[in-house]
Amino acid sequence: MDLEKYDVVIVGGGPVGCITGESIKNHNVLIVEEHQSIGVPLQCAGLVSKRGSKELGDPKGCVNKIRGAYIHAKGTTLNIGNEEIRAYVYERKVMDKDIAIRASKHADFLLKTYGRIKIEKNKYKLILNHMGEEFEIFPKIIIGSDGTKSTIGKSIGLINNKNREILSSCQFEMVDVDIDDDFVHVFIDKDYSREFFIWIIPMGKDRVRVGLCDKGNCYKKLVDFINNHPIAKEMLKNATTTEFSVGALPIGYSKTVKDNVLLVGDAAGQVKPLTGGGLYYGARCAKICGEIVDKYLSNDYDLDYLKNYEKLWKREIGREIDIGLKIRKIFLKMNNNQIEKILNFIKNSGLIEYINEHGDMDKPSYVVKHVFENYFKGFLKFR
Ligand SMILES: Cc1cc2nc3c(=O)[nH]c(=O)nc-3n(C[C@H](O)[C@H](O)[C@H](O)COP(=O)(O)OP(=O)(O)OC[C@H]3O[C@@H](n4cnc5c(N)ncnc54)[C@H](O)[C@@H]3O)c2cc1C
Repeated sequence: MDLEKYDVVIVGGGPVGCITGESIKNHNVLIVEEHQSIGVPLQCAGLVSKRGSKELGDPKGCVNKIRGAYIHAKGTTLNIGNEEIRAYVYERKVMDKDIAIRASKHADFLLKTYGRIKIEKNKYKLILNHMGEEFEIFPKIIIGSDGTKSTIGKSIGLINNKNREILSSCQFEMVDVDIDDDFVHVFIDKDYSREFFIWIIPMGKDRVRVGLCDKGNCYKKLVDFINNHPIAKEMLKNATTTEFSVGALPIGYSKTVKDNVLLVGDAAGQVKPLTGGGLYYGARCAKICGEIVDKYLSNDYDLDYLKNYEKLWKREIGREIDIGLKIRKIFLKMNNNQIEKILNFIKNSGLIEYINEHGDMDKPSYVVKHVFENYFKGFLKFR
């Protein structure tokens, strides 16, 4: 295997790693993936805005279209949305594979290959373990698109417990469910998830993803929710589970460039802190990352040029993530009664029309900030 010929090695063959590879058009790129197949195991609810879908290249795998959401808190439900299609639900396995097929026009793949970094003579060495055999190389560029737990990011000191919170998740795919398949359900209920929320996302007629994200113990909490939450219990009373998955979400970001190593996607914390959505941000940042690396390798630039990647991605989504992190701090201090009060305030003060008009899945903090600033009447201002 001639691994020396690659200018760039991307560690992690998820959608973000693949789009990064696709965006480096003029150099030799290798994408390594630890699993034997692209797109498995599933760790996602697959809900993507229209804009996000376009950014991902409108891949195959769309199974449903969404017009809005029911937000439930305690005894109150808000119905947001109208006739307009706002999002798509994807079968991630199909989506990821389709994106990988596109990427394969510009990059080679090596599956069943685990990548890790070591320092040798002040340079980063990449060690690839492929089916038990180890290869050591020094590519010009190493990109860590290795997801939430990014060993690449940790091993070079970019990620630590101080700059990143990790939430865990559990999700069931269920069939035989009586649901209006145009609307997702979001349950903000601290009795089941103290630090995040629970979702029911229709994947078409009769089929849903039911998931919960929190600090830990998610399987038990999700089963408790399905068996005991009054709305979920009724909706899922005849349901059968056909798939089970667990995953992790990063909240917060750190530096994303060190020498010739760049982080992108979940590895970089390019995720919305309020909803956990990372596909749109990841795809957007993957393109920025790919273009910067392409230019760096095509010109006689010094390593500092790579820092433009961090400048550019932060310029696009940094403020949205920062506001989301501030709102999350407030959310963590709230109890069920306070959350229900806010939902009632939205209902009674005409804010639903505002949300329908200005709501943007890719900038959720914009609307939440507006609601909070109105609700707390001048006591709270986000900068
Ligand atoms: C429960 C849950 C629900 C979600 N729902 C949504 C949603 O509805 N909408 C949305 O936009 N986002 C959602 N997300 C987030 C979304 O899944 C991620 O943002 C997205 O998958 C990020 O893509 P990625 O390529 O950066 O990372 P990943 O998809 O995690 O891919 C990383 C890849 O790297 C591989 N890898 C890791 N380490 C190594 C290594 N050392 N060597 C080789 N390979 C390695 C992994 O096997 C994996 O294939 C959800 C996440 C979770 C956990």
